[in-house]
Amino acid sequence: MSESVALADADGATRALAELATSDAASPAEAPKPKATSLFKKKKGKKAFGSKAVLEAPPKAPKPARAPAPAAATSAASFAASARRAADIGAQNNCSLEALAVALHAARPFTEAFGRAAPGGSGPDADAVAALRLVFAGVGKKEAPSGPNEALRQALASRGGGDLARAFGYADAAEVFETLVRALDGGGAPGAAAALKTDGYALVKMPCLICGGDEEPYQPPTSIASVVCVAQDVVRLHAEEPEAAFHDLVRRSRAPEPLSCPVTGERTVAVAARAAAPARVLALNLNWASTGVRHDDVAAVLRGALCPLDARRALADDGGEPDVRTLVAVVCFCADHYTAYVRPPPSVVDLEYPPSWTCHDRFLETGAGLADWLVDQVAPPPDPPNDRLRPKLPSLLFYV
Ligand SMILES: [Zn+2]
Repeated sequence: MSESVALADADGATRALAELATSDAASPAEAPKPKATSLFKKKKGKKAFGSKAVLEAPPKAPKPARAPAPAAATSAASFAASARRAADIGAQNNCSLEALAVALHAARPFTEAFGRAAPGGSGPDADAVAALRLVFAGVGKKEAPSGPNEALRQALASRGGGDLARAFGYADAAEVFETLVRALDGGGAPGAAAALKTDGYALVKMPCLICGGDEEPYQPPTSIASVVCVAQDVVRLHAEEPEAAFHDLVRRSRAPEPLSCPVTGERTVAVAARAAAPARVLALNLNWASTGVRHDDVAAVLRGALCPLDARRALADDGGEPDVRTLVAVVCFCADHYTAYVRPPPSVVDLEYPPSWTCHDRFLETGAGLADWLVDQVAPPPDPPNDRLRPKLPSLLFYV
C-alpha cells in the first residue's frame, strides 16, 4: 500500500492536482483552475459556516510553508550535534514535526493501532517507529519530548529528500505527514499506517451528458494518506453556496474539470471520485495558496471544518453510507511556525471527546477553550491598530 502515498517535490497545489490526475499527464483535468475572485465574510456571532458577503481576493503569493532555507545552523549534522549536547532544539525550529506528533497523539484510533505495533519497530524504518513511541510517551505525560522528537526527525529526514533532509523544521507539515505514514509502513507499524490511509480511492469518467454510455475508469484505485484540497477553492465554493456542508465543499473543490467527449468534443464527461472506505483517521490537507488570507475566510473555513464531517462525502460522490466524523486536531501554520490545536483525550467511560481544545506550541500547552475560542485563536478578528496580525492557516485537520 505504501507506494500510493505520493510525495512530490512540487508545491502543495501542484501536489493536490497531481494526486487527482496522476494517471493522465495530458489530461485537461489537471490544468489549474483559475481562482475566482469572490471570497466571503463571516457574520459576527453567526453559527453557520460564513455568510454571503463577497469581497475581492487577495493577490496570490507563494506557498506559505516554502520558507527560504535557514542558515547553516540547521544542517542535519548540526541538529544531531545539538541533540547530543541537549541544546535547545527549539532554536532550530522543528515545529512541523512537533505539531504533527501532538495532533496524531490526539487521534485515538491511530494511537490504539500504533500501540499494537512492536515497541521497537521492525524493518528499515524501525528507528522512526521507536522514536515516535517515545515522542507519544512524552506527549501523554505532558512533557516536551524534544530529544525523541529530534530522533524522529533524523529517522524521517533520511527517508525524505530535499527539504526534509536539509532543513526539516521548515518542511511542509503535510509532506512530513506523508513521510511518516511511509515510515510506519516500513517500520513495523503497518496497522498504524493503515489507520491513516484511505484505500480504493479512484476517479471514474461519468456517462457523457449528451451521448450517455457507461461509467469508465479514469484513475485506478489507489491509497491516499490525506485528502488534499486548495483552501481558496473551498472559500470560493462556500461563497457560491453558503448553505453547503463542509464535506461537500471539500469534495467539490477536489473535482477535476469535465473531460471532452470523444464524439462531440464538448466537455460533457464529468469525473467523479470513488473510495472503498475513508481512513479511520482522516487527514484533510488544506493548501492555502497565499499567506495574505482574510481572517473571515479562515474563520469560516474553520467553522465549517468543526461541523460533523461525513468522511465519505468529503472523498467521494458514490452515494455510500454516511460516515460521520469529529475534528480532533488542527495543525496550523503562521509566520514560518507550526502549532497544534487538539481535543483532550476522550473519557474512558464514554469514549467521547470533550468539547474543549488546547493549543500546543513546541509541545507546551499554551491555552485552552471551546470551539469559539479555537476560532478566535486561529483567526482573531481584525483589530485596526494591529492589522498586520495574520490569521493562522489551518493546514492539516484530523478527523476520527
Ligand atoms: Zn458525448
